[in-house]
Amino acid sequence: MKKPVIDFDECVGCGSCVEICPEVFELNEDDNKAYVRAEDKCDTCDCGEAVDVCPTEAITLAGE
Ligand code: SF4
Repeated sequence: MKKPVIDFDECVGCGSCVEICPEVFELNEDDNKAYVRAEDKCDTCDCGEAVDVCPTEAITLAGE
């Protein structure tokens, strides 16, 4: 199973990934970065869409 990983240096806190998949991603209001809150939920939605929508390519999928 692939798991989304966020590169915090690249994330600009746009919130697009959270909009697409709020079960997996959440935005931290303190540092305005996206975090993976439940990586095992990515079976229920297409994290590939979050990868595609991220404007800075901060999201990658790791593992199998
Ligand atoms: S879509 Fe990319 S830049 Fe936007 S909040 Fe998510 S990880 Fe950060």
